[in-house]
Amino acid sequence: MYNSLLKHEKMETVSHFAAAVSHELRNPLQSIKGFVQLMKEYDYSRDKQIEFHEMVLNEIESAEDLIDDYLVYAKPTYGQLEASSVSCEVQHVLKIMMPYANGKGVEMHITEMDGNAEILMDRHKFQQALVNIIRNGIEAMPNGGKLAVAIKSTATRVSVHVIDEGIGMTKEEVRRLGEPYFSSKIKGTGLGMMVTYSIVSQMNGQIFVESEKDKGTEFRLEFPNLTTSITK
Ligand code: ADP
Ligand code: MG
Repeated sequence: MYNSLLKHEKMETVSHFAAAVSHELRNPLQSIKGFVQLMKEYDYSRDKQIEFHEMVLNEIESAEDLIDDYLVYAKPTYGQLEASSVSCEVQHVLKIMMPYANGKGVEMHITEMDGNAEILMDRHKFQQALVNIIRNGIEAMPNGGKLAVAIKSTATRVSVHVIDEGIGMTKEEVRRLGEPYFSSKIKGTGLGMMVTYSIVSQMNGQIFVESEKDKGTEFRLEFPNLTTSITK
């Protein structure tokens, strides 16, 4: 199923950047909350505590970055793209999302990983795009389940797959993905996918979605493969 790349244009109709910022700030704040709660629950080893502290600090920094990003985001100019490793960023995002997934009884797995794949990205924005998709995948499995992530590449493309076994979507819901304020959740704001579509499109990427009600959903993000385009 193919979703229009022009979805980011819908985003331009949104003037409520304050709402978008507060929505996106919830991601790092919830991670911080998760780590702080984890630290309270058990008597972790000093090494583990230091690791948690570092994660919390990282998340605070990413909250600061988000504020910056959104101020930039509100303007028509975007950050420079640089060649970066897809697997590094994916692994970082999975680490960030771990407390949230644990809290919801969701196990995250990397099922396939091309560790060499590089694409042009703004790292923070790419992380944000992925976090939004992974968060939705976790939230689609209220009784827990598995979330699979894969990085594959062909001569010309690098793809990141995020597969959940959750509630799935109807064709109409898939069609509305990325529309500002479209949300089926009680406390949802419907801005996460809008941001993701916009970021992926800025990176010259495409988003493909396959979903079946009560079966699950696969998001596939595709980008031009930089590794091969440089060496060939
Ligand atoms: P929010 O998560 O705040 O509702 P999003 O923009 O992140 O907003 O997502 C919009 C809507 O898209 C969700 O409310 C949900 O209906 C649907 N959706 C997105 N990802 C999934 C998924 N993995 N499984 C089922 N529905 C999804
Ligand atoms: Mg969401």
